[in-house]
Amino acid sequence: MFGFSIPKIALLLLIIFLIWQMFKILEKRKNIKDNFSNNEEEEENDFYEALTECKKCGNFFSKEDSLLCPVCNRKTN
Ligand SMILES: [Zn+2]
Repeated sequence: MFGFSIPKIALLLLIIFLIWQMFKILEKRKNIKDNFSNNEEEEENDFYEALTECKKCGNFFSKEDSLLCPVCNRKTN
């Protein structure tokens, strides 16, 4: 009547489902791989972001250690 029988539609849905699952697994593997490289980059970025430039003397110091510049001991913000 519609050119499709229920078993054909069921088989088609099963194939779509299997392909979808396959892509999901591949995407998951890719994400795990990406997360490893991203974490490395983020760690590097955090390292650089943690350093604050003193507006008075231009010295770079870790904001996590102290809010005061170790060179001139002035608040940068
Ligand atoms: Zn300073």
